[in-house]
Amino acid sequence: MTFTLAIVGRPNVGKSTLFNRLAGKRLAIVDDTPGVTRDRREAMGNISDLEFRLIDTAGLEEGAPGTLSDRMRKQTEAAIEDADVTLMLYDARVGVTTMDEHFGAMLRRAKKPVILCANKCEGRAVQEGVFEAYTLGLGDPVPLSAEHGEGLADLYQFIVSALKEIGIDPYAHEEEEYGKGQSRNEDTGPEEGDLNYEFVDEEGQNDDERPLRLAIVGRPNAGKSTLINALVGEDRLITGPEAGLTRDSIAVDWEWEGMPVRLFDTAGLRRQARITEKLEKMSVADTMRAVQFAEVVCLMLDGELGIEKQDLKIAEKVVKEGRALVIILNKWDAVKDRLDTQRQLKDALTKSLPQLKGVQIVTVSALMDKGLDRIMPAVEEAYSMWNARIPTSPFNKWLSDTLEKHPAPSVAGRRIKIRYGAQIKTRPPTFSLFCNMPDDLPDSYVRYLENELRRDFNLPGVPLRFYTRKGS
Ligand code: GDP
Ligand code: GDP
Repeated sequence: MTFTLAIVGRPNVGKSTLFNRLAGKRLAIVDDTPGVTRDRREAMGNISDLEFRLIDTAGLEEGAPGTLSDRMRKQTEAAIEDADVTLMLYDARVGVTTMDEHFGAMLRRAKKPVILCANKCEGRAVQEGVFEAYTLGLGDPVPLSAEHGEGLADLYQFIVSALKEIGIDPYAHEEEEYGKGQSRNEDTGPEEGDLNYEFVDEEGQNDDERPLRLAIVGRPNAGKSTLINALVGEDRLITGPEAGLTRDSIAVDWEWEGMPVRLFDTAGLRRQARITEKLEKMSVADTMRAVQFAEVVCLMLDGELGIEKQDLKIAEKVVKEGRALVIILNKWDAVKDRLDTQRQLKDALTKSLPQLKGVQIVTVSALMDKGLDRIMPAVEEAYSMWNARIPTSPFNKWLSDTLEKHPAPSVAGRRIKIRYGAQIKTRPPTFSLFCNMPDDLPDSYVRYLENELRRDFNLPGVPLRFYTRKGS
C-alpha cells in the first residue's frame, strides 16, 4: 500500500537534500508547480523496498528571524494534513531553535505520527544536538545525514513502526503476491539465566511478518555467491531476485526455519538476477549501501587470504553504522594452518577494532557445504543482542560499580561525576549518561565503560552507544 510522507522543518535544515536522496535522480518529480498556490514538490520515493509518495515543503523563506511566516505555516499544515507520516527535520549541528519549537508545536497538535529527524549527523560529532531534541516532545530523534545518506536504515525502521501505529501495512501488496504465513521464529532469546538482560520490542518491530534484514558482504572472490547459492538455493527462494529489485538495491526474500529473512544487495544475487550480463563485482558503494539497509551484516573473509585492510574497513563501517556483525571465515577446506589463521584474525580485530571483541566467527566451506548451518544461528544471536535492553536498575548498579573500580578523571581540578544513566534505545543498545561536565568526559573513558558493559552483560561484538548529557 502506498503511503505519503511529508518532509517539514525550518529553512536550511536539509529538507531538499533529503527529498532528493529519497526521491532519487531517476524518478521524475510528478508535481512541481512553482509560483502557483502550492510551493511544494512531490515525487515517488523509496528507502530500499519501502515505497512512498513524498511531499517536500522546502523553498519557503523565513520571515522575521525566528518566526514562522504565515505562508510557511500554511504550507506545512497542508503537507501534514495530506501525509500519513511526517518527517520533521532539524539541524543537529545547530541544535533546537525557536523556530524548530514552532514546528514541533504544530506537529504535536496534528496528532499524526511524526518522526523527528536529527539531520547533519554524519560521524558522531553532534551528540548534544541529538539530545536537545527530546525537549520537542516528539519522541526519539533519528540521527541522519541527508547529504551522506547515513541513518536511512534507522529511518526505515521508524517509518515502518509509525505506519503500524496507524494501521498501514506497507508490505500489503507483497503478501498478496507471495502469500501469508511466514512467521518469525519467536524463540530467539538466550537460555533462562544465561544473560543478564531482557529482550523488548519497543518499536513493535519484532513481529511475525518483518523479515530480518541481512547483508552478506566481503571482498570479491571471498565466496559470497557460492554461499548464497548454497544457503538460499533456488528451492528455498520465496521470491525471485527481480521481485525485490528497487532502484538501489537488490533484495531477496527467503526463509530460514520459518524465519523470514531479506537478503540485501549482494554480488551473488546480482549475478543470479542478470545471469546473461557480464559478471560484475560488488562495488564499495554497493557494500556500504547494503550495510545501511541491513540489521545484521555477515562479513565474509577468504580463509586462505585472512583479513586485510579492506575487510577491516568494512567491519569498521558496520560498527559505525551500529549494525550487528557476524564474521564468516570461508574456504576452511583449503586453509592449512587453521589455528594460526584464527589467531591472526582475532589479533587483527583486537588491534584495529577492539569494539568487536568476541564477535562471532563462523568457519565454513561454502563450496563443500560445510558449517553453513551454523551461520543463521549466529546471525540470530547477533540480532538478539542488538535488540538487547538492560533495565535501568541493573544498569545503574553496574554503572556505580564500574565507576568505583576506575573513577572518571578530573579536568582542571574538577572531578567528572557521572550520576546515573539509562538505556534509551535498542538496535543497537544506546545509553545516556548524566554527567556534571558532559563535554569533558574523555572518549577513552567512554570506551572503558563501553568495553566493561559489553563484557559484564555478555554482548560480544555488538556496537554500543553512549551519549553524555548534562545532569547532576
Ligand atoms: P532546506 O532549506 O531545508 O530544504 O535545506 P537544504 O536541503 O537546501 O539544505 C541546506 C544546507 O544544508 C545545504 O547547504 C545542504 O548541503 C546542507 N545539508 C543538507 N543535509 C546535510 C547533511 O546531512 N549534512 C551536512 N553537513 N549538511 C547538510
Ligand atoms: P564472490 O566474488 O565473493 O561472490 O565469490 P565466489 O562465490 O564467486 O567465489 C570465488 C571463488 O572461490 C570461486 O572460484 C569459488 O569456487 C571459490 N570458493 C567459494 N567458496 C569456497 C570454499 O569454501 N572453498 C574453496 N576452496 N573455494 C571456494
